[in-house]
Amino acid sequence: MVKNMILYNSNDLVKLGCNECNGCSECCRGMGQSIVLDPYDIFQLQKVTGANFAQLMQEKIELHVEDGLILPSLKMQSGIDACGFLNQDGRCRIHDYRPGLCRLFPLGRNYDEKGLRYFLLEDACQVQNRTKIKIKKWLGISLLHQYEEFLIDWHDLRKDIQARIMEQKSDEYTQSINVKMLEVFYQKPYDIKQDFYVQFEERMGAFQGCGFG
Ligand code: SF4
Ligand code: SF4
Repeated sequence: MVKNMILYNSNDLVKLGCNECNGCSECCRGMGQSIVLDPYDIFQLQKVTGANFAQLMQEKIELHVEDGLILPSLKMQSGIDACGFLNQDGRCRIHDYRPGLCRLFPLGRNYDEKGLRYFLLEDACQVQNRTKIKIKKWLGISLLHQYEEFLIDWHDLRKDIQARIMEQKSDEYTQSINVKMLEVFYQKPYDIKQDFYVQFEERMGAFQGCGFG
């Protein structure tokens, strides 16, 4: 965390309002592999596209490695260097189901002993005179408290796996934990008619039951 950075909770008002981006789509272009997807994002993508993880991997998402851990992210399309869900008018085709990091921008997440809080990436959005808006409204996520609890659990699990990978220094261990993590949390299709959080808890249990948790 940057010293003196202001941290907000979801009830705080922050200068985020950008007139619904008003034709700008900068956040959907040239993002490399930075729009990392968590299991809730995959659940939402599965819901809106009808595609499973393997099908999404054919075009819309890709894998990358962060401190030994393999994670999916949105894939910038070759030739246009833009997200595959951006339409020709520069609008998101899956707006109501867009990933958490798309909802968040230009906010970042901070995790510490006080839980999950948010901070403003000051120069990230070029719109001048942004209006104040509550973070919870900006995110537009139903059951936000539950979602934030999931994010904390997911963040802790990721950090734990990354620490184990660094500690073990074994290619075999790194491979087996990555294979299991991808399989349990991403590749196994979610039941889109059922509650996501219940399914996530079950998968956490399954992952821990394999001796990795
Ligand atoms: S840079 Fe600002 S206005 Fe442009 S897409 Fe991102 S949030 Fe919207
Ligand atoms: S999912 Fe939508 S909001 Fe997110 S980068 Fe793609 S087009 Fe932009």
